[in-house]
Amino acid sequence: MQPPTRYEKLPVTTLASGEELFIPLHRLEGAGSGPTLGLSAVVHGDEPLPNEVVRRVLTEIEPAQLRGTILAVPVVNGLAFQNLSRHTPIDMLDLNRNFPGDPGGWLSEQIAHVLTTRFVSQLDVHVDLHSGGVFPTVDYVYVFDETRELSLAFGSDLLYQPTRPYQGTFAVPAREKGIPFFTAELGGGSLLDARYIEQGLRGVTNVLKQLGMLDGEVVRPARQTIVNEMAVIRPRHGGVLYPEVGLDQLGRVVVGGTLLGRVVSPYTFETLEEIRAPFARGYMILLRGAITRVNPGDYAYMVANAEGARTAEP
Ligand SMILES: [Zn+2]
Repeated sequence: MQPPTRYEKLPVTTLASGEELFIPLHRLEGAGSGPTLGLSAVVHGDEPLPNEVVRRVLTEIEPAQLRGTILAVPVVNGLAFQNLSRHTPIDMLDLNRNFPGDPGGWLSEQIAHVLTTRFVSQLDVHVDLHSGGVFPTVDYVYVFDETRELSLAFGSDLLYQPTRPYQGTFAVPAREKGIPFFTAELGGGSLLDARYIEQGLRGVTNVLKQLGMLDGEVVRPARQTIVNEMAVIRPRHGGVLYPEVGLDQLGRVVVGGTLLGRVVSPYTFETLEEIRAPFARGYMILLRGAITRVNPGDYAYMVANAEGARTAEP
């Protein structure tokens, strides 16, 4: 189970409980020389699947075959992970909106500062792994012009090129340092864990090959689509979400107006809200595969606009 890495703890602070808060860091050194790839997971505490992707990468990559170093933080936000929550429980902030951080700021900013100065500072390339959370399942990768080939190499069918990147994400210290960075969103919701762990392992292996850190051909799907517009569909009512489309629809085309799910009151059993697909033609990016509790404003669905989407050249 345990990978053959050098393990260290990057100290962050002392908590009021007296416990030491630290960031776990694994170093897998290859036999040959090459760049340092950073891998990070669980910056959002409700996304445990990428933690297993990191473990698999560190366990299955043969150091004798590797040129360069993999530096991996398997749990970026341990407090949020303990709580299985997106936000840091102590200050209720989203760590992934507080980069590059501040040593004198909120706790999340202090954590971000340690990551910026002690982790990203050591990297030549950085890939941040996310998933859909406790209930939703997601499948796409971010792409920017500067990191296009690396994002494509990860091998996801759908890629999202936002017009403006989110402020305060892990992308910030990478951009300041001038190193390639992208975020991969895969799995979540538990139902397809095995598939997405394999997809994550294959994706990171492809990135290592693209960087010349491993020998071998990058295996990409026959068709990869880049979208520019994404709708996050957040319910206006809380209750129980009954899915009307299955997980098999992930990545597929969805026609505008299609009923995606219904929010039902668990008390009266009346339908409070019908959630329908936006855009005349869209791609299902995130959905919930089972009956789940939903809060108003949660991530319920994500649909990308197929209009304006383009196929990436092989
Ligand atoms: Zn996330």
